[in-house]
Amino acid sequence: MTWETIIGLETHVELATRTKIFCSCTTEFGGAPNTHCCPVCTGMPGTLPVLNRQVVELAVKAGLALNCAITRYSKFDRKNYFYPDLPKAYQISQLYAPIARDGAVDIGEGKTIRIHEMHMEEDAGKLVHDPWLDQTRADYNRCGVPLIEIVTEPDFRSADEVIAYLEKLKETLQYLGVSDCKMQEGSLRCDVNLSVRPMGSQELGTRTEMKNLNSFKAISRAIQYEARRQIELIEEGKRVVQETRRWDENKDATYAMRSKENAQDYRYFPEPDIPPLELSEEYLERLRAEQPELAEAKRVRYQADWGLPVYDTEMITSQKALADFFEEVVALGAAPKQAANWIMGEVLGALSVHGLEARDMKLTPPTLARLIQLVKEGRLNRNTAVKVFEAIFETDGDVDTYVKEHGLEQVSDAGLVTKVVDEVLAANAKSVADYRAGKEKAFGFLVGQVMRQLKGQASPAVVNQVLREKLQ
Ligand code: ADP
Ligand code: MG
Ligand code: ZN
Repeated sequence: MTWETIIGLETHVELATRTKIFCSCTTEFGGAPNTHCCPVCTGMPGTLPVLNRQVVELAVKAGLALNCAITRYSKFDRKNYFYPDLPKAYQISQLYAPIARDGAVDIGEGKTIRIHEMHMEEDAGKLVHDPWLDQTRADYNRCGVPLIEIVTEPDFRSADEVIAYLEKLKETLQYLGVSDCKMQEGSLRCDVNLSVRPMGSQELGTRTEMKNLNSFKAISRAIQYEARRQIELIEEGKRVVQETRRWDENKDATYAMRSKENAQDYRYFPEPDIPPLELSEEYLERLRAEQPELAEAKRVRYQADWGLPVYDTEMITSQKALADFFEEVVALGAAPKQAANWIMGEVLGALSVHGLEARDMKLTPPTLARLIQLVKEGRLNRNTAVKVFEAIFETDGDVDTYVKEHGLEQVSDAGLVTKVVDEVLAANAKSVADYRAGKEKAFGFLVGQVMRQLKGQASPAVVNQVLREKLQ
């Protein structure tokens, strides 16, 4: 029998606000344990949460970009559970009236993933286990960091589709400035719900849930492992138990954490400390108008307007800061394909050498635009320009000053070239004879000699022309 894998995702994303969702503590990642806390986010009795309006704004932007209907009148609810990483013993979340519903994400190749709903909530703290001392310590710095949770319909059929969706989601949220989506810092975490069914069947099988997967590799492997486990169970005549399972990266296996059948009742009820949220039509209209152009639209535009190859458009839009940089270089007069080549080659190369993201780069668009212009005017040859680029990349140094100080300007003075050509011809009588005897290779050698005398700064076109003339 052939089996079909069915997957639905719940993705938690930490929002890029400066402060937490209900207090003014910083959301900065890291920091000494329990230093980014206050009575509100540590749940002291008698404190009152105040909703951060930027959280709502980022959530609405995300909802719009995911093609959701935005809920004009949304509410918060209390989800009660007891766990040491949650000092209030409840999480403020949204169950009955989430901020956004019924979205859709196009993941390519004609496939669309439906979004069931998206809601706002607060993050919990972190427990740090110390196996040596056999202790567990609580760090509440992350308590109250704003999250959106995005819940899809069970529309995925493979790990590849899941990864394609997450890449699209990450790209979209980064372009919107909603989140940095750094998986290694837990800014984007996934719960994977998975079931299998005989191919062709319309019913959903019993699902398991794998919690808090935080790398694409872990997600992909966990899906493959868990699908195989369920298929084997059913083929052996056993049944899949609805439960939460944990992925163990080291063992490459999932194991049961808790059964869903005796799942806890969260005793949800409307959050009494936060008034319902009412969003005006003008507010939504303003946010709609402010939505930036997303990566997909940029790729289409670069192809249509500037004839860039698909590959180039993908590389350039891989980071928003890079796409912005590219557009500015072009706006300053560089030919789009030239700018693209510099960005894909030299800029991405230098970023990787220095371990930087495009948004942290010092180099500014006018600097690269100037370099491209000097090459175009024949005043720098491409190889020398690359050397200049490498020298000024880290500091965004001045191109013209650097070229002048290092005497790098290309020699296009035909008089000087002629003088050097004469010297080279006089010193290499054998090569001249070879060339006249029909050995084209000898010509290349003579060009090389002239370039060497001129320290590589001559215009190759001028050298070629003078040499040919002299040899005729
Ligand atoms: P819960 O509230 O228990 O987390 P939901 O009904 O909200 O359950 O679903 C959570 C996620 O599980 C959603 O992404 C949904 O698409 C997915 N899901 C639900 N049923 C199945 C199933 N049978 N197989 C795979 N995924 C499923
Ligand atoms: Mg769930
Ligand atoms: Zn606080």
